[in-house]
Amino acid sequence: MHAAWDEVYWLFGCSLIAEEARLYADAGTDPDHPWRPHRVVDRVEEARDVISLTLEPVDGRRAPHRIGQYVAAAVNLPDGTRQPRQYTISSSTPEAALRVTVKRVRGADGAPDGQVSTWLHENAHVGTVLDVSQPAGDLLLDDSDDALVLISAGIGITPVAAMVGDLARRRPDRSVHLFHVDREPETHALVSDVRAHAQRLNDVRTLTWYTGGAAEGPAVRSGRMDLADIDLPPTARVFLCGPLPFMQAIRSALTARGIAPERIEYEVFGPDLWARQPKSGAA
Ligand SMILES: Cc1cc2nc3c(=O)[nH]c(=O)nc-3n(C[C@H](O)[C@H](O)[C@H](O)COP(=O)(O)OP(=O)(O)OC[C@H]3O[C@@H](n4cnc5c(N)ncnc54)[C@H](O)[C@@H]3O)c2cc1C
Repeated sequence: MHAAWDEVYWLFGCSLIAEEARLYADAGTDPDHPWRPHRVVDRVEEARDVISLTLEPVDGRRAPHRIGQYVAAAVNLPDGTRQPRQYTISSSTPEAALRVTVKRVRGADGAPDGQVSTWLHENAHVGTVLDVSQPAGDLLLDDSDDALVLISAGIGITPVAAMVGDLARRRPDRSVHLFHVDREPETHALVSDVRAHAQRLNDVRTLTWYTGGAAEGPAVRSGRMDLADIDLPPTARVFLCGPLPFMQAIRSALTARGIAPERIEYEVFGPDLWARQPKSGAA
Protein backbone atom coordinates (compact mmCIF):
# COMPACT_ATOMS: atom_id res chain seq x y z
CA MET A 1 0.00 0.00 0.00
CA HIS A 2 2.77 2.41 1.03
CA ALA A 3 4.68 1.68 -2.19
CA ALA A 4 1.55 2.37 -4.28
CA TRP A 5 1.05 5.80 -2.66
CA ASP A 6 4.75 6.50 -3.09
CA GLU A 7 4.40 5.83 -6.80
CA VAL A 8 1.29 8.03 -7.08
CA TYR A 9 3.15 10.92 -5.45
CA TRP A 10 6.15 10.44 -7.74
CA LEU A 11 3.97 10.34 -10.84
CA PHE A 12 2.04 13.40 -9.71
CA GLY A 13 5.25 15.22 -8.84
CA CYS A 14 6.79 14.36 -12.21
CA SER A 15 3.75 15.61 -14.11
CA LEU A 16 3.81 18.91 -12.16
CA ILE A 17 7.53 19.33 -12.87
CA ALA A 18 6.89 18.63 -16.56
CA GLU A 19 4.01 21.14 -16.62
CA GLU A 20 6.18 23.77 -14.94
CA ALA A 21 8.96 23.14 -17.46
CA ARG A 22 6.45 23.47 -20.30
CA LEU A 23 5.14 26.79 -18.94
CA TYR A 24 8.67 28.17 -18.62
CA ALA A 25 9.56 26.96 -22.12
CA ASP A 26 6.38 28.48 -23.62
CA ALA A 27 7.25 31.81 -22.06
CA GLY A 28 10.93 31.62 -22.97
CA THR A 29 11.86 31.83 -19.27
CA ASP A 30 14.99 30.32 -17.75
CA PRO A 31 13.64 28.15 -14.86
CA ASP A 32 16.69 29.04 -12.76
CA HIS A 33 15.77 32.73 -13.05
CA PRO A 34 11.95 32.97 -13.10
CA TRP A 35 11.89 36.62 -12.00
CA ARG A 36 12.55 39.22 -14.64
CA PRO A 37 13.35 42.80 -13.60
CA HIS A 38 10.78 45.28 -14.95
CA ARG A 39 11.02 49.06 -14.71
CA VAL A 40 7.97 51.15 -13.86
CA VAL A 41 7.59 53.49 -16.85
CA ASP A 42 4.25 55.02 -15.88
CA ARG A 43 2.18 55.39 -12.72
CA VAL A 44 -1.42 56.57 -12.80
CA GLU A 45 -3.67 57.28 -9.81
CA GLU A 46 -6.78 55.53 -11.14
CA ALA A 47 -9.14 56.07 -8.22
CA ARG A 48 -8.95 56.49 -4.46
CA ASP A 49 -6.37 53.94 -3.23
CA VAL A 50 -5.90 52.42 -6.70
CA ILE A 51 -2.84 52.89 -8.92
CA SER A 52 -1.86 51.47 -12.29
CA LEU A 53 1.79 50.70 -12.98
CA THR A 54 3.07 50.17 -16.51
CA LEU A 55 6.07 47.86 -16.54
CA GLU A 56 8.72 47.35 -19.20
CA PRO A 57 11.31 44.54 -18.98
CA VAL A 58 14.74 45.98 -18.26
CA ASP A 59 16.25 43.77 -21.00
CA GLY A 60 13.72 45.16 -23.50
CA ARG A 61 12.22 41.75 -24.35
CA ARG A 62 8.48 41.85 -23.72
CA ALA A 63 6.83 38.48 -22.99
CA PRO A 64 3.46 38.42 -24.77
CA HIS A 65 0.53 37.64 -22.50
CA ARG A 66 -2.99 36.43 -23.04
CA ILE A 67 -5.98 38.52 -22.03
CA GLY A 68 -7.13 37.49 -18.54
CA GLN A 69 -3.68 36.44 -17.31
CA TYR A 70 -1.82 37.81 -14.31
CA VAL A 71 1.79 38.28 -13.23
CA ALA A 72 3.36 37.99 -9.79
CA ALA A 73 5.46 40.84 -8.45
CA ALA A 74 7.95 40.12 -5.67
CA VAL A 75 9.06 42.90 -3.35
CA ASN A 76 11.60 43.10 -0.51
CA LEU A 77 9.79 44.41 2.56
CA PRO A 78 11.34 46.52 5.35
CA ASP A 79 11.19 43.52 7.74
CA GLY A 80 13.63 41.67 5.46
CA THR A 81 11.11 39.26 3.99
CA ARG A 82 10.48 38.89 0.28
CA GLN A 83 6.81 38.60 -0.66
CA PRO A 84 5.22 37.84 -4.04
CA ARG A 85 1.63 38.78 -4.94
CA GLN A 86 -0.37 38.28 -8.12
CA TYR A 87 -1.82 41.14 -10.17
CA THR A 88 -4.02 40.79 -13.23
CA ILE A 89 -2.68 42.36 -16.39
CA SER A 90 -5.15 45.18 -16.98
CA SER A 91 -3.79 46.27 -20.37
CA SER A 92 -5.96 44.99 -23.18
CA THR A 93 -3.46 44.34 -25.97
CA PRO A 94 -1.28 41.22 -25.72
CA GLU A 95 1.70 42.97 -27.32
CA ALA A 96 1.43 46.11 -25.17
CA ALA A 97 3.55 46.82 -22.12
CA LEU A 98 2.31 45.12 -18.97
CA ARG A 99 -0.01 47.25 -16.90
CA VAL A 100 -1.13 46.15 -13.44
CA THR A 101 -3.72 47.95 -11.36
CA VAL A 102 -3.25 47.67 -7.60
CA LYS A 103 -5.70 48.48 -4.85
CA ARG A 104 -4.11 49.51 -1.57
CA VAL A 105 -5.44 47.10 1.05
CA ARG A 106 -6.07 49.00 4.28
CA GLY A 107 -6.39 47.02 7.47
CA ALA A 108 -9.83 47.07 9.06
CA ASP A 109 -10.95 46.20 12.60
CA GLY A 110 -7.41 46.05 13.94
CA ALA A 111 -6.00 43.97 11.06
CA PRO A 112 -2.72 45.25 9.55
CA ASP A 113 -2.54 46.99 6.17
CA GLY A 114 -1.80 44.72 3.22
CA GLN A 115 1.96 44.33 2.96
CA VAL A 116 2.71 44.27 -0.76
CA SER A 117 -0.08 46.57 -1.99
CA THR A 118 0.95 49.19 0.61
CA TRP A 119 4.62 48.82 -0.37
CA LEU A 120 3.76 49.28 -4.06
CA HIS A 121 1.65 52.37 -3.37
CA GLU A 122 4.39 53.94 -1.28
CA ASN A 123 7.49 52.87 -3.22
CA ALA A 124 6.72 52.02 -6.85
CA HIS A 125 7.28 55.17 -8.92
CA VAL A 126 8.54 55.80 -12.44
CA GLY A 127 12.06 54.31 -12.53
CA THR A 128 11.51 51.72 -9.75
CA VAL A 129 12.59 48.20 -10.79
CA LEU A 130 10.35 45.30 -9.71
CA ASP A 131 10.84 41.55 -10.04
CA VAL A 132 7.99 40.23 -12.17
CA SER A 133 7.09 36.65 -13.11
CA GLN A 134 6.04 35.38 -16.50
CA PRO A 135 2.31 35.88 -17.27
CA ALA A 136 0.22 32.96 -16.03
CA GLY A 137 -3.39 31.90 -15.64
CA ASP A 138 -5.87 30.14 -17.85
CA LEU A 139 -9.07 32.02 -17.13
CA LEU A 140 -9.55 33.27 -20.66
CA LEU A 141 -12.52 34.44 -22.70
CA ASP A 142 -13.99 31.76 -24.91
CA ASP A 143 -14.24 32.52 -28.62
CA SER A 144 -17.87 31.46 -29.15
CA ASP A 145 -20.73 33.70 -30.30
CA ASP A 146 -22.60 33.30 -26.99
CA ALA A 147 -23.58 36.50 -25.20
CA LEU A 148 -21.06 37.45 -22.53
CA VAL A 149 -21.91 38.76 -19.09
CA LEU A 150 -18.90 40.33 -17.35
CA ILE A 151 -19.61 41.03 -13.70
CA SER A 152 -17.16 42.70 -11.32
CA ALA A 153 -16.95 44.33 -7.92
CA GLY A 154 -14.30 46.80 -6.78
CA ILE A 155 -10.78 45.93 -7.95
CA GLY A 156 -12.30 42.84 -9.63
CA ILE A 157 -12.67 45.17 -12.61
CA THR A 158 -9.05 44.51 -13.69
CA PRO A 159 -9.66 41.38 -15.82
CA VAL A 160 -12.90 42.86 -17.13
CA ALA A 161 -11.07 46.00 -18.33
CA ALA A 162 -8.64 43.84 -20.28
CA MET A 163 -11.39 41.64 -21.68
CA VAL A 164 -13.59 44.51 -22.85
CA GLY A 165 -10.65 46.08 -24.65
CA ASP A 166 -9.89 42.76 -26.31
CA LEU A 167 -13.53 42.32 -27.38
CA ALA A 168 -13.64 45.85 -28.79
CA ARG A 169 -10.60 45.07 -30.91
CA ARG A 170 -11.37 41.52 -32.03
CA ARG A 171 -15.08 40.79 -31.52
CA PRO A 172 -17.03 44.07 -31.57
CA ASP A 173 -20.20 42.26 -32.74
CA ARG A 174 -20.41 39.95 -29.73
CA SER A 175 -23.27 40.75 -27.35
CA VAL A 176 -21.81 41.94 -24.03
CA HIS A 177 -23.42 42.84 -20.69
CA LEU A 178 -21.15 44.76 -18.32
CA PHE A 179 -22.22 44.91 -14.68
CA HIS A 180 -20.05 46.48 -11.99
CA VAL A 181 -20.54 47.45 -8.36
CA ASP A 182 -18.32 49.84 -6.41
CA ARG A 183 -18.57 51.91 -3.27
CA GLU A 184 -18.78 55.26 -5.10
CA PRO A 185 -17.48 56.92 -8.28
CA GLU A 186 -14.26 57.97 -6.50
CA THR A 187 -13.35 54.33 -5.84
CA HIS A 188 -14.34 53.05 -9.30
CA ALA A 189 -11.04 52.24 -11.03
CA LEU A 190 -10.49 51.91 -14.80
CA VAL A 191 -13.98 53.25 -15.45
CA SER A 192 -12.89 55.52 -18.32
CA ASP A 193 -10.98 52.66 -19.95
CA VAL A 194 -13.96 50.33 -19.75
CA ARG A 195 -16.36 52.99 -21.05
CA ALA A 196 -14.08 53.85 -23.98
CA HIS A 197 -13.77 50.18 -24.96
CA ALA A 198 -17.52 49.60 -24.48
CA GLN A 199 -18.31 52.42 -26.92
CA ARG A 200 -16.60 50.38 -29.64
CA LEU A 201 -18.88 47.37 -29.05
CA ASN A 202 -21.96 47.12 -31.26
CA ASP A 203 -24.24 45.33 -28.79
CA VAL A 204 -23.45 46.28 -25.22
CA ARG A 205 -25.42 46.93 -22.08
CA THR A 206 -23.65 48.62 -19.17
CA LEU A 207 -24.97 49.01 -15.64
CA THR A 208 -23.13 50.21 -12.52
CA TRP A 209 -24.22 50.10 -8.89
CA TYR A 210 -22.77 52.37 -6.19
CA THR A 211 -23.36 51.09 -2.67
CA GLY A 212 -22.28 54.25 -0.86
CA GLY A 213 -24.03 57.16 -2.48
CA ALA A 214 -26.76 58.63 -4.61
CA ALA A 215 -26.76 57.19 -8.11
CA GLU A 216 -26.77 59.51 -11.10
CA GLY A 217 -27.26 58.69 -14.77
CA PRO A 218 -29.32 56.25 -16.80
CA ALA A 219 -26.91 53.33 -16.44
CA VAL A 220 -26.23 53.82 -12.74
CA ARG A 221 -28.14 52.50 -9.74
CA SER A 222 -27.59 52.84 -6.02
CA GLY A 223 -27.24 49.95 -3.59
CA ARG A 224 -26.03 46.42 -4.04
CA MET A 225 -25.94 44.75 -7.43
CA ASP A 226 -29.30 43.15 -8.17
CA LEU A 227 -29.85 41.46 -11.52
CA ALA A 228 -33.48 40.44 -10.87
CA ASP A 229 -35.05 42.76 -13.47
CA ILE A 230 -32.38 42.29 -16.12
CA ASP A 231 -32.96 40.00 -19.09
CA LEU A 232 -30.11 37.58 -19.62
CA PRO A 233 -30.09 34.79 -22.20
CA PRO A 234 -29.76 31.37 -20.51
CA THR A 235 -27.02 30.52 -22.98
CA ALA A 236 -24.91 33.49 -21.84
CA ARG A 237 -21.39 32.87 -20.61
CA VAL A 238 -20.67 34.66 -17.36
CA PHE A 239 -17.37 35.84 -15.95
CA LEU A 240 -17.32 36.97 -12.30
CA CYS A 241 -14.56 38.75 -10.35
CA GLY A 242 -14.88 40.25 -6.89
CA PRO A 243 -14.97 39.33 -3.20
CA LEU A 244 -15.99 35.74 -2.52
CA PRO A 245 -19.36 36.47 -0.79
CA PHE A 246 -20.32 38.75 -3.69
CA MET A 247 -19.50 36.09 -6.26
CA GLN A 248 -21.37 33.43 -4.33
CA ALA A 249 -24.49 35.62 -4.11
CA ILE A 250 -24.43 36.54 -7.80
CA ARG A 251 -23.72 32.98 -8.90
CA SER A 252 -26.60 31.78 -6.79
CA ALA A 253 -28.95 34.34 -8.37
CA LEU A 254 -27.82 33.40 -11.88
CA THR A 255 -28.16 29.64 -11.44
CA ALA A 256 -31.61 30.15 -9.86
CA ARG A 257 -32.74 31.79 -13.09
CA GLY A 258 -31.47 29.02 -15.32
CA ILE A 259 -27.88 29.82 -16.24
CA ALA A 260 -25.99 26.53 -16.03
CA PRO A 261 -23.18 26.53 -13.42
CA GLU A 262 -20.64 25.43 -16.02
CA ARG A 263 -21.33 28.66 -17.93
CA ILE A 264 -20.23 30.72 -14.95
CA GLU A 265 -16.50 31.26 -14.45
CA TYR A 266 -14.87 33.23 -11.70
CA GLU A 267 -11.53 34.60 -10.55
CA VAL A 268 -10.72 34.79 -6.85
CA PHE A 269 -8.11 37.38 -5.85
CA GLY A 270 -6.69 35.22 -3.09
CA PRO A 271 -6.58 31.61 -1.96
CA ASP A 272 -9.41 29.91 -3.81
CA LEU A 273 -11.40 28.79 -0.78
CA TRP A 274 -14.47 28.49 -3.00
CA ALA A 275 -12.92 25.61 -4.93
CA ARG A 276 -12.50 23.78 -1.64
CA GLN A 277 -16.20 24.14 -0.73
CA PRO A 278 -19.00 22.11 -2.26
CA LYS A 279 -20.25 24.43 -5.01
CA SER A 280 -23.88 23.51 -4.45
CA GLY A 281 -23.56 24.79 -0.87
CA ALA A 282 -21.73 27.91 -1.95
CA ALA A 283 -24.22 28.94 -4.53
C1 LIG B 1 -5.02 35.63 -9.70
C2 LIG B 1 -5.02 36.89 -8.84
C3 LIG B 1 -5.14 38.12 -9.45
C4 LIG B 1 -5.15 39.29 -8.67
N1 LIG B 1 -5.28 40.50 -9.29
C5 LIG B 1 -5.28 41.63 -8.54
C6 LIG B 1 -5.41 42.91 -9.18
O1 LIG B 1 -5.53 43.03 -10.41
N2 LIG B 1 -5.39 44.02 -8.40
C7 LIG B 1 -5.27 43.94 -7.01
O2 LIG B 1 -5.24 44.99 -6.35
N3 LIG B 1 -5.15 42.74 -6.39
C8 LIG B 1 -5.14 41.59 -7.13
N4 LIG B 1 -5.00 40.38 -6.50
C9 LIG B 1 -4.80 40.35 -5.04
C10 LIG B 1 -3.30 40.55 -4.71
O3 LIG B 1 -2.55 39.43 -5.19
C11 LIG B 1 -3.02 40.66 -3.20
O4 LIG B 1 -3.65 39.58 -2.55
C12 LIG B 1 -3.49 41.98 -2.61
O5 LIG B 1 -2.80 43.07 -3.22
C13 LIG B 1 -3.23 42.01 -1.11
O6 LIG B 1 -1.88 41.77 -0.87
P1 LIG B 1 -1.14 42.52 0.33
O7 LIG B 1 0.25 41.95 0.45
O8 LIG B 1 -1.26 43.99 0.21
O9 LIG B 1 -2.01 42.07 1.59
P2 LIG B 1 -1.60 40.97 2.69
O10 LIG B 1 -0.47 41.47 3.52
O11 LIG B 1 -1.44 39.67 2.00
O12 LIG B 1 -2.93 40.97 3.56
C14 LIG B 1 -4.13 40.50 3.01
C15 LIG B 1 -5.26 40.71 4.02
O13 LIG B 1 -4.99 39.95 5.18
C16 LIG B 1 -5.15 40.76 6.33
N5 LIG B 1 -4.21 40.32 7.37
C17 LIG B 1 -2.87 40.16 7.24
N6 LIG B 1 -2.34 39.77 8.42
C18 LIG B 1 -3.38 39.66 9.30
C19 LIG B 1 -3.48 39.29 10.65
N7 LIG B 1 -2.41 38.93 11.35
N8 LIG B 1 -4.71 39.33 11.23
C20 LIG B 1 -5.79 39.68 10.54
N9 LIG B 1 -5.76 40.02 9.24
C21 LIG B 1 -4.56 40.02 8.63
C22 LIG B 1 -4.83 42.17 5.88
O14 LIG B 1 -5.47 43.15 6.71
C23 LIG B 1 -5.42 42.17 4.47
O15 LIG B 1 -6.79 42.49 4.52
C24 LIG B 1 -5.02 39.20 -7.26
C25 LIG B 1 -4.88 37.95 -6.66
C26 LIG B 1 -4.87 36.81 -7.43
C27 LIG B 1 -4.73 35.46 -6.74
